[in-house]
Amino acid sequence: MIEMKDVYMTYQNGVVALNGISVTINQGEFVYIVGHSGAGKSTFTKLMFREELPMKGTIVVNNKDVTQLKWKDVPYFRRNIGVVYQDFRLLPRLTVYENIAFALEVIEESPKNIRKRVMTVLDQVGLKNKARFIPDELSGGEQQRVAIARAIVNRPSLLIADEPTGNLDPDTSWEIMHILEEINASGTTVVMATHSKEIVNTVRKRVIAMEDGMIVRDEHRGEYGYEI
Ligand code: ADP
Ligand code: ADP
Repeated sequence: MIEMKDVYMTYQNGVVALNGISVTINQGEFVYIVGHSGAGKSTFTKLMFREELPMKGTIVVNNKDVTQLKWKDVPYFRRNIGVVYQDFRLLPRLTVYENIAFALEVIEESPKNIRKRVMTVLDQVGLKNKARFIPDELSGGEQQRVAIARAIVNRPSLLIADEPTGNLDPDTSWEIMHILEEINASGTTVVMATHSKEIVNTVRKRVIAMEDGMIVRDEHRGEYGYEI
């Protein structure tokens, strides 16, 4: 569960990114975050995995107050959260397999378990036959599937996707969306910031709309609500 109360966040340059956010997201929900560029969507998601700290307010994720986490406890806390970005962010010199295994090697899993987990998630995203490829040899959609596999390999309870289809054509975007839905169906909370009106208005889920660092709309089975 994610619970934010009266959260304010200002960047060092003085830009107010979040201006009083209070929201609860329950375990297992699928939530779209919509709103124009600069509305605060990315900042909102960054606070959930302690990528940024708020100036004011409380943020409880999986029963931990993120704002009170000690630095040494941040990596452990983040193991339970997967993050996917618009630009994939794969390590270019590593194979698909290695990109995913890396996330497990840093937590000292046994080689046997690593192999099993990596092949399981590759199967889940339909890329078992591309394990030995490097990112450059894959299409954008395939690279995003690798990024998703990497994000879920630790079985996180929360998956954050910041414009996961922003660099993809419509057909490929739908493939990615269906993978995110399957991950959600297995119990993982999914928080997806998106500009895809088509996806939001077709696959109806909770919609949180942001403007000027505030939540201006929060609807169960909501609509995109903006022209683009
Ligand atoms: P969105 O994801 O909706 O586009 P962001 O959360 O990225 O919105 O940005 C909210 C506001 O904070 C914008 O005005 C943006 O320019 C500003 N901002 C975002 N990241 C930074 C940063 N690292 N430093 C300074 N300002 C930032
Ligand atoms: P940079 O210097 O741009 O951060 P890195 O080589 O450190 O480049 O990482 C490239 C990308 O790979 C990062 O943007 C990050 O998202 C991802 N990455 C790095 N380390 C890990 C990791 N342990 N687990 C998952 N993803 C990682």
